[in-house]
Amino acid sequence: MTLTPKPIRTTVLQKLLTLGLAVVTGVIVILTNLQSNITIASDSNLLTKQSQYASDLITSLPSSPTSSLPSFPPPQAHPLPPTLAQWQDIKNSGDYFSHVSPTKVGYLVWSQFPVKVYIEPSNTLTGQQAEAWVNNVLEAVKEWNTYLPLVITEKPEIADITIVRKAPPLQLNPSSKIPRARSAQTTYNYISKNNLLSHSFIILLSPSQTGQYLTAAIRHELGHALGIWGHSPLQTDALYFSQVRNPSPISPRDVNTLKRVYEQPTSLGWKL
Ligand SMILES: [Zn+2]
Repeated sequence: MTLTPKPIRTTVLQKLLTLGLAVVTGVIVILTNLQSNITIASDSNLLTKQSQYASDLITSLPSSPTSSLPSFPPPQAHPLPPTLAQWQDIKNSGDYFSHVSPTKVGYLVWSQFPVKVYIEPSNTLTGQQAEAWVNNVLEAVKEWNTYLPLVITEKPEIADITIVRKAPPLQLNPSSKIPRARSAQTTYNYISKNNLLSHSFIILLSPSQTGQYLTAAIRHELGHALGIWGHSPLQTDALYFSQVRNPSPISPRDVNTLKRVYEQPTSLGWKL
């Protein structure tokens, strides 16, 4: 589940792309050591010495309390939400569904709408800064709301997705043994809710993210939390595995992928 956030040379990058990022859930990391030996791919505008290189980590909780749940309901598809049923990509841009992994309960599909999003108030920002942070996050929530109904809740206890301004834990890179900072981390857990197998997400966003990078980071992470549990190999998609200088808006390929995810069977949302 990790894409090592160290300088990537063209060949390595190509290899990763060829492999289709078999490690489905890559990671992105923000690399700010500008003076480092980053090799810039000449055929790519992906990296420049000035660009931040971001990385996220998407994980299930290592010790999810599924053992306390009875056996999972047999996987079935839910009806497509109307917003996705209506979606048509007239240009046939394709998708990257093959890069999305099912989990042991199937695909991470929501079936109760609107999905409730709680934005935890920052305890370190005040006044205008706190407001700007929330507005940047809200921007991304609003963008996804076009494709799946989302609502902001003030009650953390009923939230499906919780967004927190907090640095994700450092993770040791096995090759370099140097802990790296990550821009974000998205984690899900299974829960039993009203006798249905359900799930919930926590998204940690590094305080180092601001402005359009913050919006891009939350756009990307929300894509994971809404069911795209994998990464796109194309930087023109919001779910591209790395952060780029000009972050992509939600692309038709992102929505095509999301729609395919929602057509898949899942144990989530069915009676325990
Ligand atoms: Zn990601």
